[in-house]
Amino acid sequence: MSNIIRQTEVSDSKDCPAYTNKIKFQKIITRDAQIGDGLMIRRALPHPERRIIGAWCFFDHFGPFDVKHNGGLDIPPHPHMGLHTFTYLIEGKILHCDSLGSIQHIVPGQVNLMTAGKGIAHSEESVADAPVLQGVQLWLAMPDTTRNEKPKFTHYAEVPVVKEKGVTYRILAGDVLNETAPTQVETNVSALHVHAEEETEILLPLNPEFEYGILILAGSIHVEGFDATSGLLLYSPVGHKNVPIKIKPNTHFIMIGGEPFKEEVLLWWNFVARDKNEMMQALYDWENNTDRFGEVKGYKGGRLNPPGVPN
Ligand code: MN
Repeated sequence: MSNIIRQTEVSDSKDCPAYTNKIKFQKIITRDAQIGDGLMIRRALPHPERRIIGAWCFFDHFGPFDVKHNGGLDIPPHPHMGLHTFTYLIEGKILHCDSLGSIQHIVPGQVNLMTAGKGIAHSEESVADAPVLQGVQLWLAMPDTTRNEKPKFTHYAEVPVVKEKGVTYRILAGDVLNETAPTQVETNVSALHVHAEEETEILLPLNPEFEYGILILAGSIHVEGFDATSGLLLYSPVGHKNVPIKIKPNTHFIMIGGEPFKEEVLLWWNFVARDKNEMMQALYDWENNTDRFGEVKGYKGGRLNPPGVPN
């Protein structure tokens, strides 16, 4: 995705309300945002109430889109730095092309993990033979130890699947339900896709050292005495061992978790940095087409322009 929300504020994590482990869930209503040339999506992170969960600093839910009638996703080449993009689909198909020469389709059940490091560029497009598109894209802030390294791209064709009591769990990152996801990241995080076709009740194990976010994509869940439906992100601070959840039929949700990220990050447009000078240098390098981000081959059309400059 490309973060092209029509505002230019820099997001940092110092201005969020503090939540202690006495409060189990903070309810965060996702915001509408535009990506590419104006496609509307729901953005869960960053949010004025919650900038980051573990090292997960960006969380978009897109679709379901009717690709034939609305054109679906078409995001021209744009740069990233200091983050991993983490793409996962519920339905449909996307073509990813990047400046390393990767040309990769992704379908449901797979993960595309792009490690931007010091700089990479990519494009993302719907594919016409898959008429409906729905999925998520997350960004993980890279730690200081690796964030200036060379970029890379990895496609994971399969992730572990656990089926229990009519619920399908796909382990996308980290260790969950005694399974380990293959996705390689440097921070201690987890990600899980939960899908229930029938009404059911589960007890999800939590790592007490992790904070968590649950984003409902479809259907609804009942948790801690209230109903949560599509468009709501539930944040839970560290200190909990499990959470009982009642799930309505035809529900999908994504649960992300991680150790609270110790480094202060700045997020602006498609960049994760530590200070404004880094942002301005990245912006300069993209606008002046230096060799930092490289050229995306395989996309018909021009590059994406940044939305002004950081405030
Ligand atoms: Mn992107």
